[in-house]
Amino acid sequence: MSRPTKIIINTSAFAHNLQRVKAYAPKSLVLAMVKANAYGHGLDAALNGLREADGFGTDEIDIAVSMRARGVHQKILLMEGMFFPDEIPLIEKEQLDVVIHHLAQVEMIEQAAIRDPLTVWVKINTGMNRLGFAMDQMMGIRERLQRSGKIKEMILMTHFASADRLQDPTTLNQLTQFMQVTLPILAPKSLANSAAIIGWPDSHADWVRPGIMLYGASPFADKSAHELNLVPVMLFQSQIVAIQMVPKGGAIGYGGRYICPETMPVGVIPVGYGDGYPRTAADGTPVWVDGQCVPLIGHVSMDRLTVDLRTHPQVKIGSPVECWGKHLSVDDVAKHAQTIGYELLCRVTDRPQYHII
Ligand SMILES: *Cc1c(COP(=O)(O)O)cnc(C)c1O
Repeated sequence: MSRPTKIIINTSAFAHNLQRVKAYAPKSLVLAMVKANAYGHGLDAALNGLREADGFGTDEIDIAVSMRARGVHQKILLMEGMFFPDEIPLIEKEQLDVVIHHLAQVEMIEQAAIRDPLTVWVKINTGMNRLGFAMDQMMGIRERLQRSGKIKEMILMTHFASADRLQDPTTLNQLTQFMQVTLPILAPKSLANSAAIIGWPDSHADWVRPGIMLYGASPFADKSAHELNLVPVMLFQSQIVAIQMVPKGGAIGYGGRYICPETMPVGVIPVGYGDGYPRTAADGTPVWVDGQCVPLIGHVSMDRLTVDLRTHPQVKIGSPVECWGKHLSVDDVAKHAQTIGYELLCRVTDRPQYHII
């Protein structure tokens, strides 16, 4: 028997969350982001659950090729484009779309022997200052690509830096600048990640690019997935495997971070950072145990964590535990671990049993 620690992927939640995207952005096509192993959920499960999407975005060409081999016929977009010229024949053969964000990539296209022209997504930097062409480079880049004769379709895109902050003027600035620079160009446009899909309807344009909301977590710090009617896809479950009566003054786990203020029952759960549970989780991080949340106490170790069971005396060995999922959102856990739900989802390891339902 393996450890009772499991990742369960609830495939039907994908379809629900995709419907939510379509309800927010009914006129847009949907490029579902499946980078980082589908935000840690497993690519096969995501492709199956999201098969009604109009396309998929990944950073890895090997993954893109394997998606074609799995029968994905929709658009597949390489989010960072090609890194080396020798990737272009594969991009052409597998009919992958590529993001072009740098002059070096324009040169690669100009110099490549391409028979079947490519679809490129030209990325414009409107304030994220990570990838993308400066706005005043845009027209020149477009001309060069068109002159190359190696492009069949061009989509214009940008990425928001702070779309999750609805009071922050950055997004409106980015949106305005993007609209200005792309106004004279008749081409499909794409701007919105999950936060913008929900919070910035003016940014929806032709293609939206949801990630986190498809997985049922919230892009906002102050709005829960539940409030947004998103359903968590990943359930991270385990069981109580030991209960200790620790005397007053007893220190829990490595470094003795937590000192018991009284004699108290402490539950032991076989989940640790070796499974992807964050070691940064502070005392008080909620852990759902058989019907209610109890506080984590002591440092998370590689294989185990410990919880305070004082408020929950009926817990037994074998009582069910959820680290995040249906009863407790990954976003709540993330807040207690000084990170965001995105990171916790991506960091789940392949040690827990993995089930797709
Ligand atoms: C990851 C990513 C997205 C999706 O972002 P979410 O916040 O997860 O919705 C959209 N666009 C680009 C370019 C991305 O890299």
